[in-house]
Amino acid sequence: PLHLFWHRRDLRLADNLGLYAARQHTPTVVGVFCFDPALLQGQDVAAVRVAYLLGCLQALKEAYQQRGGCLLMVQGDPRQVIPEVATTLKATAVHWHEDVEPYARERDRVVAATLNDLGIAVHRQWDQLLHPPSAVQTQQGQPYTVYTPFWRNWSALPKAAPVPPPPDFAPLEATEIASIPLPSTHDLGFDWSGELILAPGEAAAAQQLAHFSQHAIYEYGEQRNYPGRPGTALLSPALKFGVIGIRTVWAASEAALEHARSDEARASIRTWQQELAWREFYQHALYWFPELAERPYRQGFASFPWVNDISQFEAWCRGETGYPIVDAAMRQLNETGWMHNRCRMIVASFLTKDLIINPQWGERYFMQRLIDGDLAANNGGWQWSASSGMDPKPLRIFNPMSQAQKFDPDADYIRRWLPELRSVDTPELLSGSISPLERHRCGYPPPIVDHHVQQQRFKQMYHDHFRR
Ligand code: FAD
Repeated sequence: PLHLFWHRRDLRLADNLGLYAARQHTPTVVGVFCFDPALLQGQDVAAVRVAYLLGCLQALKEAYQQRGGCLLMVQGDPRQVIPEVATTLKATAVHWHEDVEPYARERDRVVAATLNDLGIAVHRQWDQLLHPPSAVQTQQGQPYTVYTPFWRNWSALPKAAPVPPPPDFAPLEATEIASIPLPSTHDLGFDWSGELILAPGEAAAAQQLAHFSQHAIYEYGEQRNYPGRPGTALLSPALKFGVIGIRTVWAASEAALEHARSDEARASIRTWQQELAWREFYQHALYWFPELAERPYRQGFASFPWVNDISQFEAWCRGETGYPIVDAAMRQLNETGWMHNRCRMIVASFLTKDLIINPQWGERYFMQRLIDGDLAANNGGWQWSASSGMDPKPLRIFNPMSQAQKFDPDADYIRRWLPELRSVDTPELLSGSISPLERHRCGYPPPIVDHHVQQQRFKQMYHDHFRR
């Protein structure tokens, strides 16, 4: 019998639960990837993410070929295309992994129903999380809405070990279905000529994990806070597209724990594991509360009187707010498609609390620029920053000056991304007290708002809005 494995966010052969299971059923497993116009032509796409995705598909295609198998590429609405491919190939079963996103869940429901009607078996299972949503709940059987108890429960659960790559595939007699050639970024209407922070494909992701888990992970607790240092794993694009298996990632962190020589090193690794748990926390949140994708978790925020000044929003997007740490971060995003987590928090706080702009605007801009742009993590990050999400500390407001002083003490990061400010003294760069004349000389804009004024203004608005 021939089985189809439908790849979506699992662009790898190793540690792939569904593919491994399919291959245990039959040697004739055909991989398929569907280019879905509804996703590619949506509002929330970044050229850099498409470029990374295509690179990963190329690598996956080659990996299939090396094992005697075949990855078909098709295009169109998967609700029609996947059943068509299955019918044409006379597949007796189609396998895929569960997803948390509302669009994916509805799509999958329709595909499964159509396949059922056609008499084709459907095998679905969880793969992208260490623990699926129903496995981590409160004693009352409710989803967690606060991270700390979630972590306590999640971290105590036993973690599955990675599964090996599937054995070689049986060659297909004849591929009766036309696989489209792999398109280029340009063919899909996007333009990305820059480098990628992580090379596409399974091998590069595995190498990056090996490097991180043998070195930087031991100092992650301290180094992860400094955007100018290479202190984090840079694995987010691979985790977004499942180019590396989450069980493999977990196993690497556990191996590092065994090798750790100090309490500090162990605490660092634990901190990194907590970040993996944040990833799962936000995915579970989106699964249980799909409405998060559309609106604030705290209902009261839906009617918050955001100022929404378009020209200030555009200045923020371009990295021209006149606040060096904010602008450096936005330029890093615009130029590389990635931004350090500390800076994501700084710029999100600045947009929502200083410019008093609807966080959904920032959330969308991030999706249009990030190589790792992911609905659950991005939405979670923005709702956290806007204080509109779960677990909020209402008046969390970042001061861009003290953030820079603490986390970019030599202003290396600021100078790297704002070369026009290279000659400005460090204390001025950090405090933002660059004189108007100096700004003019460097071609750097004056601050578009006054942080201290805006902070008071936001607090007042918040107070007035929620007191009603
Ligand atoms: P590391 O620090 O090495 O962490 C390891 C992995 O843990 C990451 O690759 C990621 O998968 C996960 N992770 C770490 N922190 C978080 C977090 N706060 N929430 C969820 N998962 C986390 N992450 C995304 O993957 N996609 C996004 O679209 C995204 N948008 C964000 C928006 C905002 C406003 C904020 C504050 C954070 C956002 N994050 C997002 C989380 C975080 O910034 C990135 O995951 C991280 O910077 C990726 O770099 P890394 O792989 O070196 O991370």
